[in-house]
Amino acid sequence: MVIGAGIAGLTAARALADACERVTVLDRDVLPAVPAPRRGTPQSRHLHVLLARGAEALDELFPGFLDELAEAGAVRADTQGDAHWYFDGHHVRRAPSGLFSYGLSRPLLEHRVRERVTGLGNVTLMPSTEVLGPVTTPDRTRITGVRTRPLPDGTDGTGGTDAAGETVLDADLVVDAAGRGSRTLHWLTELGHPLPAKTEVRADIVYVTRHFRREPHHLGGRKAAAIVGYPGHPRSGALITVEGDRFAVVLAGQYGEEPPTDEAGMLAYAESLAGPDVAEVLRTAEPLDEPARTRYPASVRHHYEKLDRHLGGFLVTGDALCTFNPAYGQGMTAAALEALLLRRLLAEGPGPGPGPDPHDLPRRFFRAAAKAVDTPWLLAAGGDLRFPEAEGRRGPADVLLDRYLTRYRAAASVDAALGRTFLRVVHMVEPPTALLAPGRVLRALRAARRATAPGTAGG
Ligand SMILES: Cc1cc2nc3c(=O)[nH]c(=O)nc-3n(C[C@H](O)[C@H](O)[C@H](O)COP(=O)(O)OP(=O)(O)OC[C@H]3O[C@@H](n4cnc5c(N)ncnc54)[C@H](O)[C@@H]3O)c2cc1C
Repeated sequence: MVIGAGIAGLTAARALADACERVTVLDRDVLPAVPAPRRGTPQSRHLHVLLARGAEALDELFPGFLDELAEAGAVRADTQGDAHWYFDGHHVRRAPSGLFSYGLSRPLLEHRVRERVTGLGNVTLMPSTEVLGPVTTPDRTRITGVRTRPLPDGTDGTGGTDAAGETVLDADLVVDAAGRGSRTLHWLTELGHPLPAKTEVRADIVYVTRHFRREPHHLGGRKAAAIVGYPGHPRSGALITVEGDRFAVVLAGQYGEEPPTDEAGMLAYAESLAGPDVAEVLRTAEPLDEPARTRYPASVRHHYEKLDRHLGGFLVTGDALCTFNPAYGQGMTAAALEALLLRRLLAEGPGPGPGPDPHDLPRRFFRAAAKAVDTPWLLAAGGDLRFPEAEGRRGPADVLLDRYLTRYRAAASVDAALGRTFLRVVHMVEPPTALLAPGRVLRALRAARRATAPGTAGG
């Protein structure tokens, strides 16, 4: 049983389908028959980057998936050759990198994943169904199902609970993929179970996304740009080319900076960024929709891996386990990686249901998931901890590392190979330690001396 049919829930269902007889995915929402934003995932109106590692992971879960995305209109782009990147105001030297990402809207991506999941013979989607809480064994050590109620199509479930409409659905294994609004902590409290420790790093980011018609002359044919904010200048902007000859454009501000939503204000904000690409598009391209705005308070990580007692048969994945400042574009990739490791653990056995060690899966899953989450967490939380406004612990090693990475970013403006490694780390195909390889450190420190001045679009 999976709670939530977002990217985490759908990919978890894919993983479970290999090991379980039947998988049911429950979601509050009406799930649209065509790619469209929906109420339960308000973020779907915003620009969503699918990192290269996330694309690979989805292709591992659904063989042939990336070809299907391309056929559906997703735009394959060389992350360094077809894009401009600005870090700390330095423009990363442009060069073909062989590192590819796919530009598409979040609704199209989710739609395609959902189609693949429904094509699996043993997975059923149950839309318009809200999960109200867990059902457990009398001693409350193991989950045996969930209490649900049907939602009349088009409501959000806030109209109160009709106990008469409640149904209990039995399950050997329940996966919470309900996103940031997950009720698991509340449920564990009610059951008298220990709560996991939580790490939180304030992101305080405001996002404004709008779509524009893309024409061949825009940006000299380049497909994407990312102008990343930095301490002293917490304003960012990014754009990617998505299906239907459109640019998805986002303006973001952190720690008190808030992009406006009116046309003149958005352009002025884009012009204040440390690179010209987003302003160029806003100035010359036709807007196709109204801007969508959202605020995201903090990256939050729940340390289930540190619990010494787990609710048997119960897992938590995706944003419900760990949610990252969206500016780093990692949430869908992390969810897909968690699904891959769930599949691996299930293949190793013992599976769900009465077995020799039915309680062991949560422990094994949360440990492995914590390792999978470590890297994106380091990048997102570590990135935000560069800002003095972000509260969180920083040791002397962090300060040294930050100084080195500041020079590395500058060096990437003159040395394309250094830029490539940096982007491979950002896209999670290489670990962050790749930036610290001995030869690379020397090379970066030397190149930093020749670096172009911030704000110049070299390369
Ligand atoms: C503004 C913004 C921009 C982002 N940009 C990116 C990006 O560029 N790249 C990227 O990889 N990620 C991005 N993310 C993160 C990404 O959207 C998520 O990390 C990813 O989709 C995984 O989410 P999820 O499936 O865990 O949860 P969600 O997508 O939140 O899905 C949860 C689902 O559970 C359902 N649900 C909740 N409670 C219940 C219940 N009680 N009963 C039944 N159903 C329930 C909801 O209806 C929903 O469908 C962004 C997020 C935000 C907010």
